[in-house]
Amino acid sequence: MISAPTLTDVPHPSVPDTAPSPGAAVQRMRDGFDSGRTRPLAWRRAQLRALRRLLVDNRDDLREALYTDLRKSATESDLTEIGILVREIDHTLRHLGRWLRPRRVPVPLVLMPSSARIVREPLGVVTVIAPWNYPVQLLLAPLIGALAAGNTVVLKPSELAVATSTLLARLVPAYLDREAVSVVEGGIPETTELLAQRVDHIFYTGNGAVARIVLQAAALHLTPVTLELGGKSPVWVDASADLASAARRIAWGRFVNAGQTCVAPDYVLTTPAVAARLEPLLVGAITDLYGADPKSSPDYGRIVNERQFGRLAAMLGQGRLVAGGATDAAELYIAPTVLADVDPASAVMTEEIFGPILPIVTVSGLDEGIRFIGAREKPLALYAFTRSRTAEQAILARTSSGAVGLGAPMSHLMVPGLPFGGVGASGMGSYHGEGSVALFSHDRAVLRTPAHPDVLGLVAAPYARRRTQLVRRLVSTLRR
Ligand code: NAD
Repeated sequence: MISAPTLTDVPHPSVPDTAPSPGAAVQRMRDGFDSGRTRPLAWRRAQLRALRRLLVDNRDDLREALYTDLRKSATESDLTEIGILVREIDHTLRHLGRWLRPRRVPVPLVLMPSSARIVREPLGVVTVIAPWNYPVQLLLAPLIGALAAGNTVVLKPSELAVATSTLLARLVPAYLDREAVSVVEGGIPETTELLAQRVDHIFYTGNGAVARIVLQAAALHLTPVTLELGGKSPVWVDASADLASAARRIAWGRFVNAGQTCVAPDYVLTTPAVAARLEPLLVGAITDLYGADPKSSPDYGRIVNERQFGRLAAMLGQGRLVAGGATDAAELYIAPTVLADVDPASAVMTEEIFGPILPIVTVSGLDEGIRFIGAREKPLALYAFTRSRTAEQAILARTSSGAVGLGAPMSHLMVPGLPFGGVGASGMGSYHGEGSVALFSHDRAVLRTPAHPDVLGLVAAPYARRRTQLVRRLVSTLRR
């Protein structure tokens, strides 16, 4: 019999922890899970509330770390990292009781009077591996679902967002149950060692190349995996759209976090006539967002490191400059840039850009646009600016993507009821809201069949003629 831990088992916020090795962290989480402490709803709710406190109490430190790593503005950190998590926690706390309630399902006549239900049970130990671009949100959003579902969790923050990784490694053990959540810091060697451990689910957010390594490591233990990846998310714009509004929203989506957002609009797809009207509107939208000199704007971010800076700087010459183009290597600054007349074979159109560069690609019309999208990997998000319902229907019916945003980029992330995830090369599996709890749970089938009346006896051998006829009557699929 497992005794439920009391809420006082949750450690006091001032107790620090020592850095565990990946193997030791997983073992501790395994022991924590086996102790049964994560099962009671009260424990799960207490952890979610503690995580909420972590975010609210340390808002200033989190903002500072994000500024250090990415020069993220305080408002942007509130909106896209801390606020989104607090909302997700509140939504989960509000609905968790209902999401976890066993669901009764009808039983066939042949099994009457049995009762059948689906019981959500936790998987066990979950590993969460996060990237650097939203280093708080993408580490802790999966944690919300994993804790709500009653798992223990090993968190692996990105080593490329050093300040955030260091801060979270200190805060997490101070707020959350240390037998149930552990932070493993480090780069490739530590992640490789972590991936070698047997766990019950791996949740990876990052690029497709590492995703293949994750999947191979998971295959060894048959571990289920969620892959939240990226790719090139197109934006279709047609002549019917409110172009000024489209330009403002596209520019916001592309240049927030200096373009380092997985669901950012990657390129605009439109006709030459619309492109000619859109170009000056995009230039104006950039000025509205960041002023005449974006480098001095407190709201404009920087590139995460020199490697990414070099990769992006090389793309600046791959088209005609409509806006931006300026760089400052010492500051890892790249101006919000719009390119036209891009070569489809160049890196800017073959790689995910993941930086503040927006190419405009022209096609003859929607049909060619849809073929252009279909000839490439399935995007994480697909956006369209049009007033035509026919165009919207054609896009929905003839393309595939993780999500579709009609009239606004990235905003689907703010709806906790919508699943967030990719399809094909942009990822497998999805999360957020109840979807997260479902993802980190096993839906266990439970059937209770009483000894009397002996319904099973009626359908068991020996199959005399009378019994066979009875079975036929009970099993409706055998009816003529
Ligand atoms: P990253 O370099 O921080 O890597 C992500 C994680 O993988 C890190 O924790 C890192 O330690 C680990 N890692 C790196 N190399 C490894 C290796 N060889 N073996 C094992 N582990 C390794 O981040 P990134 O991959 O550059 O992130 C950017 C990518 O992530 C983009 O493609 C972007 O679109 C995608 N992304 C997707 C989402 C989403 O939710 N779908 C969100 C953000 C970013």
